[in-house]
Amino acid sequence: MPEPIMDSFAPPSKQPEPKQGIWGIAAYVGGKSKIDGVAEPVKLSSNENAFGCSPKAAAAFTEASAKLFRYPDGHAGPLRAAVAAYHGLEAERLVFGNGSDEVFGLLNQTWLEVGDNIVTGEHGFLAYRISAEACQAEVRLAAEPEQRVEIDRLLDLVDAKTKIVYLSNPANPTGTWNTPDEIADLRRRLDPAILLVIDEAYAEFADVPSYESAFGLARSHDNMIVTRTFSKIHGLAGLRVGFGYCPVRVIEAMERIRMPFNVNLPAQYAAVAALSDQAHIDASKDQVVEWRPRFYQAVRALGYRIDQSLGNFVLIYFKDEAQAARANEHLMQKGFIIRHVANYGLPQALRVTIGKDHENEGFLAALSEFAG
Ligand SMILES: *Cc1c(COP(=O)(O)O)cnc(C)c1O
Repeated sequence: MPEPIMDSFAPPSKQPEPKQGIWGIAAYVGGKSKIDGVAEPVKLSSNENAFGCSPKAAAAFTEASAKLFRYPDGHAGPLRAAVAAYHGLEAERLVFGNGSDEVFGLLNQTWLEVGDNIVTGEHGFLAYRISAEACQAEVRLAAEPEQRVEIDRLLDLVDAKTKIVYLSNPANPTGTWNTPDEIADLRRRLDPAILLVIDEAYAEFADVPSYESAFGLARSHDNMIVTRTFSKIHGLAGLRVGFGYCPVRVIEAMERIRMPFNVNLPAQYAAVAALSDQAHIDASKDQVVEWRPRFYQAVRALGYRIDQSLGNFVLIYFKDEAQAARANEHLMQKGFIIRHVANYGLPQALRVTIGKDHENEGFLAALSEFAG
């Protein structure tokens, strides 16, 4: 065995050190996908589409396999045109990302300097926070007394160093939402030099008149951004496509640092096809809209708190963290993988994605067994 090369002058502790703040970031822990001893667990932990993606998207993905030696369209031309047409948006105001996660990352990288801050809800999505911390920015979390973002509390945390306010609407993991009046109020009271990002990853599952997309409001304001994803209703989480609808100047700034081929070729093909399958989109929404109230009723009958959710998931509150952990353990033994959302500041709660009929029935039966 060769002798290790030692520099006798260097202190033994000398090694490459990442920049300030990196060790302080809690690494993202995703949903589990396996249970020891269970051959085919039912995975209801990541808000994926119970029906998978559209067969049209799968066919487009296969078709793309003949073109894998080509670089993708760096401008995502056909996808840009399809999204603009589907949502009635100006094509030049769209930026595409490797999932909406990358859009948040691009925004943070473009706007945040050391010592700046972002403001979001206390139970807000972790992706905003991780990339902000990587920019050595401070993450300010507004209390959500009823597990719902309150506009006044967000604004209370805004100061001269605030560059971006992130609001997920509907919110994950709480499933709660803010009304169009509240969003308009937030926009009005926020300094126009601060970006307001409305993350609408679950917008397609909303079915109440008190919820509205912010696309309309964003159209006429120079500091508003609305993001969407193909990971949820379109069932393309594995391909990673999301986009932001932004003011032109925001696009121009982000385009300077966006890697040219950030959205891969099969992802672009499949996403275009997904938008052409309205029947699959409708069926995916109908499944969620039909099952949410059945979850409310069944879970409340067992004595647990569950609130109305506008997402493709529900959040079940237990007495305390220990009971939530025991319920989680029982459900795992029964083959159901769900999400204990302690890392979202809700240690007493479990988040469950709405699945197929037999999966939902099986889950509720296993929960009922736990409740005894
Ligand atoms: C799932 C989810 C997204 C989507 O992330 P992608 O990177 O597009 O997969 C965005 N925001 C929230 C709140 C989510 O739960």
